[in-house]
Amino acid sequence: MSLLVAGTLAYDTIETPFGSVKDVLGGSAVFISIAASYFTTPVSLVGVVGSDFPKGEIDYLESRGVDMEGLQVMEHEKTFRWGARYHFDLNVRDTLFTELNVLEKFDPVIPPSYRKSSYVVLGNIEPSLQRKVVEQLAVKPKLVVGDTMNFWIHGYRSELEKTMKLLDVIIINDSEARELADTPNLIKAAKAIMKLGPRVVIIKKGEHGALMITKDTIFSAPAYPLENIYDPTGAGDSFAGGLIGWLAKTDDLSEENFKRAMIYGSTLASFCVERFSTERLKELTYLEIHDRFRAFKDLSKFDEAVALT
Ligand code: AMP
Repeated sequence: MSLLVAGTLAYDTIETPFGSVKDVLGGSAVFISIAASYFTTPVSLVGVVGSDFPKGEIDYLESRGVDMEGLQVMEHEKTFRWGARYHFDLNVRDTLFTELNVLEKFDPVIPPSYRKSSYVVLGNIEPSLQRKVVEQLAVKPKLVVGDTMNFWIHGYRSELEKTMKLLDVIIINDSEARELADTPNLIKAAKAIMKLGPRVVIIKKGEHGALMITKDTIFSAPAYPLENIYDPTGAGDSFAGGLIGWLAKTDDLSEENFKRAMIYGSTLASFCVERFSTERLKELTYLEIHDRFRAFKDLSKFDEAVALT
């Protein structure tokens, strides 16, 4: 089914305990689109870059089946830039800088060919822009998934709450969920977030996996235990891409299929962190995805307990 992805395309500068990279490919829409493209194409991308953005990366995304008609290129302007440093505990990162650049003038225009998309992901971007994307659609999508992060929770709270009313699913990390709901308990936080709009709340917990919480159920997906993690950047977006890619491919919104989608999301995230930037995501094979999905199943499979007495 048709999939629309809106978000950022970025130059990232990243420091982790294992190395550093400057001005590498990043951005929410980039990670989401690449991850989703392993399940469904075309992926209709909406975003903005400056004239400094490499043509080679646009060509690469197109080669993966990402439709770039919705990409605006602003002449004489700079692409969005973001810098972060990860601690020894890779679950903790400090944002070093966020240079909005082209995002300050961005006014998303959805091409007519995208307007009937059935599945929509609103990647991290200013919440009022996320809303503008949905408002231009000609038909109500089957599923709208939204992501957000601390930067937008702090500075754009009321805009974010308006956007949340349009979401079926929100994907958010644990510290952001606590902050948004103003409670330390994640289940209580999820219930409070549901009152703001989304009926499914997915809370990412870094190397501790992800929780999916609905009115009636809780599902826990582990993170794949890896010995070598180089760069967690984009893990959350790759998770979102794997999740929506699977849902759009199968066009099945049952609870069981959502659980599978959680594992495909976790699968793509686990590959993303194995190298810097999009390096690992770009070179995946279907066999690797398939094998890791199965490995997830073995990871938490156990027999039913026998009676204790
Ligand atoms: P994640 O690690 O999944 O949270 O995603 C990190 C990616 O999001 C990086 O590639 C950044 O370029 C991008 N990013 C960082 N800050 C923002 C922001 N405020 N809005 C949109 N995208 C952002």
